Amino acid sequence: MNRREFLKSALTVAALAPVTRIVAKEGPDGNKSSEGKGRQITRRRYKHTALTVPLLGFGMMRLPRISPDKPDIDYATAEKQIARAMEVGLNYFDTAYFYHDGLSEKCAGDLLSRYPRDRYYLASKMPVRALKKEGDVERIWREQLARCKTDYFDFYLVHNLNRDRWTDTRRFHVYEFLKQKQKEGKIRKLGFSFHDEPEILKEIAEAHTWDFGQIQLNYLDWTLYRSREQYEILTKLGIPVIVMEPLRGGALAALNPEATAILKKANPDVSAASWALRYAASLPNVLCVLSGMTLTEHLEDNIGTFTDFKALNDAERKTIEAALAAYRKSGAVPCTECRYCTPCPVGVNIPRVFGLYNQAKTTGNTGHFRLVYDKMSSDEKASACVSCGACLKKCPQHIQIPEMLKKITSEMEGPLKKSAMFWSPDHEFYV
Ligand code: SF4
Ligand code: SF4
Repeated sequence: MNRREFLKSALTVAALAPVTRIVAKEGPDGNKSSEGKGRQITRRRYKHTALTVPLLGFGMMRLPRISPDKPDIDYATAEKQIARAMEVGLNYFDTAYFYHDGLSEKCAGDLLSRYPRDRYYLASKMPVRALKKEGDVERIWREQLARCKTDYFDFYLVHNLNRDRWTDTRRFHVYEFLKQKQKEGKIRKLGFSFHDEPEILKEIAEAHTWDFGQIQLNYLDWTLYRSREQYEILTKLGIPVIVMEPLRGGALAALNPEATAILKKANPDVSAASWALRYAASLPNVLCVLSGMTLTEHLEDNIGTFTDFKALNDAERKTIEAALAAYRKSGAVPCTECRYCTPCPVGVNIPRVFGLYNQAKTTGNTGHFRLVYDKMSSDEKASACVSCGACLKKCPQHIQIPEMLKKITSEMEGPLKKSAMFWSPDHEFYV
């Protein structure tokens, strides 16, 4: 997209009537109050109701872990992060059946149940890919309530819809079951999360009455993943948008040096993550932007971005456009490290391989890649892929995983070129 198209696109989107609205920045209204008395993060009003939602939501897919390769959650750190979030009015928590191999919902139940239930919003999701028969819907629903130690969800979604899962959603009457739960007061707002083409989104959004839709949206995906079209479809239908992957799995928080320099020149005091989060939150029909804040520094940085939130101005949009052009040259794989493609039947650690590769591409530090990669078992490496294709249908980013793994094998597993940068925790030198 050239600059003229980019600005035209931004203006068109701004002209769409939002169904959300910024509300008083000093704190939540009577609907949900926060724990602290200090500065609060900005909230948005849900349509014309009294319900207000923090513009930043606490994503529980990437909670702090005890060890990087295991799903177990570092409860001590998570507990402190949740307390800090509640203190500043960040009281929207988004979990799901599969996050942390099921441990995220349990963590939400264990840690959030220490607070009065009406002080936080809890969102979880029906995992359509786990459904084998209609009876599974109720079984999983009950399991989720028990894990989350609650008897209702404030926000509840049909998880990760695409063309195939939409078929299963209808086959197993998922919407009808959840609508009944909403009538019983067990669900306050019913929505869906989505990973597919806009044409499918339109079909799903028009099929039922949805209270909100959750889509992947960030400045890279605006055109790459057709997020703009998705945003426009929901906005035209009057459906508020919740944003997931605003940092594209962390990629937009750790750009390549060229892109980082552009952002730093425009504003040396803010992080790359804050630019991406503001991009998503500046859209008027966005109710909430979810961010997985593994480190406490991430949480604090995000709180800074969303306290007295300021939408991007035209000059800042141009800066992002320039940074994006520089980032596109890095050759990174568009993997968000969501782990939906795992387990691979032969053991390839797909998210880890792509994560390391992207780090190498964006930093230029091939030596660091090799330092870590060489310690992985041979089953986990890119070269172990037998191209069975089992992972392809599971990837919401539609990455051609086996092809990409072949490329990484030939590019990164051979002998290091003499010009490569070598790195170790003790030494850093160039050859
Ligand atoms: S295509 Fe390769 S990476 Fe994907 S599941 Fe098969 S062996 Fe694993
Ligand atoms: S390859 Fe796709 S499914 Fe696997 S971690 Fe990356 S984005 Fe997720």
